[in-house]
Amino acid sequence: MTSVPDIHIPAHLLPRDGRFGSGPSRVRDAQMAALTRAGHTLMGTSHRQAPVKNLVARIQEGLAEFFSLPEGYEVVLGNGGSTAFWEVAVFSLVQQRAQHAVCGEFSQKFAKSTTRAPFLTDPEIISAHPGTAAFSQASSEVDVYAWAHNETSTGVMTPVERPDGAQENQLVLVDATSGAGGLEINVSATDVYYFAPQKSFGSDGGLWLALASPAACERAERIKADGRYIPEFLDFTVALSNSRKNQTLNTPALATLILLAEQVDWFNESGGLAWATERSHNTSALVHEWVNSRDDLSFFVADPKIRSRVVTTIDVDAAIDAATVAAVLRAHGLVDVEPYRKLGRNQLRIATFPAVEKADVQALIECTNVVLDQLH
Ligand SMILES: *Cc1c(COP(=O)(O)O)cnc(C)c1O
Repeated sequence: MTSVPDIHIPAHLLPRDGRFGSGPSRVRDAQMAALTRAGHTLMGTSHRQAPVKNLVARIQEGLAEFFSLPEGYEVVLGNGGSTAFWEVAVFSLVQQRAQHAVCGEFSQKFAKSTTRAPFLTDPEIISAHPGTAAFSQASSEVDVYAWAHNETSTGVMTPVERPDGAQENQLVLVDATSGAGGLEINVSATDVYYFAPQKSFGSDGGLWLALASPAACERAERIKADGRYIPEFLDFTVALSNSRKNQTLNTPALATLILLAEQVDWFNESGGLAWATERSHNTSALVHEWVNSRDDLSFFVADPKIRSRVVTTIDVDAAIDAATVAAVLRAHGLVDVEPYRKLGRNQLRIATFPAVEKADVQALIECTNVVLDQLH
């Protein structure tokens, strides 16, 4: 542990809420109040009975509205978070070979999963240096294209469009774990747009959600019918039939569902996807302007077109130890601006998911200015 230098940030500069993490991310007070209200009703009751099934239906309908779900697409959910969904895709959605555009830890992890699967051909991997974007390219060798809408480890966002020349029977699977909700999306450009609730949706972890096209559902049914061994927990067709009944295969975390339902309703009541993405656009713009204004900070993602609106990665001048900056902020209740560990850079990482208030971002900037100026 590095010892934290004795730097004092005046109390009047502190944000109302000091959580700026890239996931888990801040949960709003109104969500927590709803959770408390559900303390004697939904919490501790059966997920096979109407009250919890209605809650799941509320989430499914809310997400369908929020994402303007294209005709025929379904909102599917299961336990285990996005990491579990990668294995679901390995078993149920990749027919023989996937192509992965890899530009960081998370896009890499899914590529590792399809590489390890003994029943799949090793994937095509298009990789880019951390801080830049990798783009899928049409290939007749693959039946799945995979990339991350927002690569959370590096702060790179990649546009979501079907690769030029992609064939009808090739599926596009987009990891939107941190991008969904904070970045614009046309869901019909994907076959599966999947995410977890603890990032832009400011809920808790442990669940995966997938917006699935008819082609994706058919693919899963066909692979199953062909007789591949599929663990029940990782079988997309099992998740699909359960989701159609507003339930999950096994017991879900009810608190995660309650917090998520509140957030989806809040988004929809406030103005939907356009409203949510505009919030992230505006708060990230504040961060980006700040980085431009200081000589001791620079963007890890040099190209502004792919610089994320939900996660900004900021390189700190080598003369200042970024871990010390984060430690001083943490000691004052401003938390989780540390960089992605494995990236190993002298960096700060700030999430501006839709629930993060502009005034709090402004306060974070002012507090960090105090720390940086004292460390010079
Ligand atoms: C956080 C994250 C994951 C992992 O999500 P879990 O729910 O923890 O499994 C996967 N992909 C991306 C892009 C992420 O940001």
